[in-house]
Amino acid sequence: MGKPTGFIEFQRQLPEDRAPKERIKDWKEFHLHLSDEEIQKQGARCMDCGIPFCHTGMNIAGAASGCPLNNLIPDWNDLVYRNEWKDAYMRLRRTNNFPEFTGRVCPAPCEGACTVGINLPPVTIKNHEVTISDKAWEEERVHPHPPEIRTNKKVAIVGSGPAGLAAADQLNQAGHIVTVFERSDRPGGLLMYGIPNMKLDKRDVVQRRTRLMAQEGVKFITNCEVGVDYSVEKLKEEFDAIILTIGSTKGRDLPIEGRDLKGVHYAMEFLAKNTKSLLDSELNDNNYISAKDKNVVVIGGGDTGTDCVATSIRHQCSSLRQLEIMPESPKTRSKNNPWPEYPKVLKVDYGQEEATAVFGSDPREYETMTQKFVGDEDGNLKEIHTVQVKWNFPANGGRPTPEPIPGTEKVKPADLALLAMGFLGPEDQLLEKLGVDRDQRSNIKADYGAFTTSVAGVFAAGDSRRGQSLVVWAINEGRAVAKACDTYLMGSSDLTGYTQNY
Ligand SMILES: Cc1cc2nc3c(=O)[nH]c(=O)nc-3n(C[C@H](O)[C@H](O)[C@H](O)COP(=O)(O)OP(=O)(O)OC[C@H]3O[C@@H](n4cnc5c(N)ncnc54)[C@H](O)[C@@H]3O)c2cc1C
Ligand code: SF4
Repeated sequence: MGKPTGFIEFQRQLPEDRAPKERIKDWKEFHLHLSDEEIQKQGARCMDCGIPFCHTGMNIAGAASGCPLNNLIPDWNDLVYRNEWKDAYMRLRRTNNFPEFTGRVCPAPCEGACTVGINLPPVTIKNHEVTISDKAWEEERVHPHPPEIRTNKKVAIVGSGPAGLAAADQLNQAGHIVTVFERSDRPGGLLMYGIPNMKLDKRDVVQRRTRLMAQEGVKFITNCEVGVDYSVEKLKEEFDAIILTIGSTKGRDLPIEGRDLKGVHYAMEFLAKNTKSLLDSELNDNNYISAKDKNVVVIGGGDTGTDCVATSIRHQCSSLRQLEIMPESPKTRSKNNPWPEYPKVLKVDYGQEEATAVFGSDPREYETMTQKFVGDEDGNLKEIHTVQVKWNFPANGGRPTPEPIPGTEKVKPADLALLAMGFLGPEDQLLEKLGVDRDQRSNIKADYGAFTTSVAGVFAAGDSRRGQSLVVWAINEGRAVAKACDTYLMGSSDLTGYTQNY
């Protein structure tokens, strides 16, 4: 695969991003592409390692190692090297319905398991994926392919995030009549109203795909909350099977003093309103929470927190802090995190890069716990009280606990606090009406591989089944639940949908 000596001859190279101080002036994507000649050299770095781990998608030490979609990575690395972009796209589409999404937003566990990565920087797999996909669209090689035969079996998919979209794409290709219900005004789930536009363009990338799916016969019903606007009885009566892909949308709260003050919001309210206003009116309708001229504190150091950082910077906030209760990750792999495990190392993401360019330093403060919010006489957030913590690890291997360090308390001005501390499972409304069982973490109870819930004919997949996760896992589950549903409807299935016992 690639050129046997390529990894010795060529250094890892990624395309330059747009400069942080430039890109924060707009909401456009910030990644650029390498030239064909440069990316061919990157394809050449795939080293014919014999037993590639990059495509295995195994769960090691609680995280994915290798691609959860089992993308045929060495194959398309070789095709990139040989300049055979058409074949590369066809190979990529065999395992991934939406490489234009994962090529932009996936944290690339494939690269953590790349054999070159044992002692050199790994092959730029994710960048190959997005380039293969973008070229296919740019060169107008992606066309609607409606199925030739319809089975006349009707499937309802509730929720249009990547899990729902992948299931819809697969089941439509199998000839079923697929309707996707979405309570928001635009389909896409968190691809539309979670991940910001500068990371994943809504019109040029997300809507381009849902438009194609509609041309292929998938019916999207938006502004329709199933269980409220469309009854569960009607759903059961009108469809032969139901797939729940409703996401894990209950935000983790921070029930401390001052939580009710004006200016304390869930991150998702901030991000979703911003994208909607951007798409509706280029932010001219003022129907969003503005960070302009505010002292912003983002509580949570993950992807959602980073998206809040980048969004606040584009609003021109006056100061920015990102608080994380966990310790800072090491800069390189620690001894107990060897290859091919997912590398748990410090990541400087686009938001931190932009904050550093604007304010001169990385906004993250580690091992910092928020104690209370304090407001002014009108109930507006005014300041935030924090304390440093140290982590205690029980000898019996139990849950580590944070312990405040006396004397490290700080009080800082804050006008806007954004809670980005993760999610606690799917919402109750629809699940109670359907009567499906839940697991201990309140996710929908449905075994991986079978995806059947406690109610006959009702399946579940994605974040609402596995808990808060990643786009690549949502696509994996969407493909796999489609296969399970197709088997339920037809007795057998020719769909591919890789399942392992995760
Ligand atoms: C801010 C943010 C940034 C992220 N960034 C990344 C990233 O960079 N990379 C990555 O891999 N992952 C990222 N993730 C995680 C990723 O987006 C999710 O794991 C993925 O979208 C889950 O897909 P899903 O289809 O299961 O659910 P979702 O994408 O959550 O979609 C569920 C959909 O169901 C709809 N719905 C719910 N109930 C009903 C109902 N009763 N009727 C009709 N519709 C309903 C919701 O409106 C929603 O649109 C991010 C998450 C967040 C919150
Ligand atoms: S989907 Fe993610 S893990 Fe799979 S090849 Fe693409 S970037 Fe790598």
